[in-house]
Amino acid sequence: METSFTDVPELPAPPASKRRRGMVEERRHPDLYFEDGNLVLSAMDEETALDHNTEHQIVTFFRVHRSILAKHSPVFRDMLAFPTPQDVERYDGVPHVRLYDSCDDLTGFLTAFYEPLYIPPEHYDGAFSKKMLGPLKLATKYQVDSLRARIISQVRKDWPSTLKAWDKRFSPMHDERGPSHPDPLHSINLAYKGGICDEIPTELGLMFYQLSVDLHPPDDLDTIASCLQLPAFLRLLKGRERLNSFMFKTIGEVVSLPCTKPECDQTAFWRHIFLDPSLQEFGWRGTRDPLGLIYMTLEYDGRLCHTCCREYCRRFKGCRQAIFGALPSLFRA
Ligand SMILES: [Zn+2]
Repeated sequence: METSFTDVPELPAPPASKRRRGMVEERRHPDLYFEDGNLVLSAMDEETALDHNTEHQIVTFFRVHRSILAKHSPVFRDMLAFPTPQDVERYDGVPHVRLYDSCDDLTGFLTAFYEPLYIPPEHYDGAFSKKMLGPLKLATKYQVDSLRARIISQVRKDWPSTLKAWDKRFSPMHDERGPSHPDPLHSINLAYKGGICDEIPTELGLMFYQLSVDLHPPDDLDTIASCLQLPAFLRLLKGRERLNSFMFKTIGEVVSLPCTKPECDQTAFWRHIFLDPSLQEFGWRGTRDPLGLIYMTLEYDGRLCHTCCREYCRRFKGCRQAIFGALPSLFRA
């Protein structure tokens, strides 16, 4: 049974949507302040929330509906069902609960309840992971399982776990990648900070691989180190090393073919794979992208006879499949 708020004295509400009281700036959220809402939540801007010594604080008020929060979140349901009267503040005529979440996180979290397409069912959005971090953190904190599940489902779609789907999503020819591609750095941060690493082990391995492909050391290392949590950064570096070894082992198991046709130059083919300078920019020695490199080798090599070309193609496709299948293990925690 819910407690009545009617006996609680009301605190004065600001006359306008925005006002200053001392160094505290108060404002109503432009999209999430519903006149018929029966609950006000407030949150501080992230910088303000983190820095307790700051003199200028910005507090944002959200006026929402108790029934919606209580329906989806057992934490809110309990919080709203059993308030002690002396703890209940009022704001603009309705109960007011101060939250210690950041304004940005709360904005995304509440928007997910009010805008059905805020989490797109199919549409690929390169900024998805960045946008979903706040909602995911709060979905976990307030136990909104349905929202958490929807975000995880979309992450899985973003990072396909079969090589066929992967090639369709991430073309081996890098210049074809566009803004709808997920950003691996933001996706990894979403997994780590959102607490879903254990639920997406395969996808996480693929994210680290793609980040490794995109990485141009040493310049990018500082940026990535500053963006990732330390365990994630170490995972990236160790994964690159393991991938390097695994790739040479896998390629090394492809034996040369017994062919005597004069037009078939297998030596040139192998030299091309391991030493051709034109391939260095793709990072063979740095092993940034073995999947892409093997793909290009098979697509463009004309040094072999037809029979050998077809056989090498089959074997190297097997290598690609083996490398892809090993990625989650190679980039393990
Ligand atoms: Zn041949």
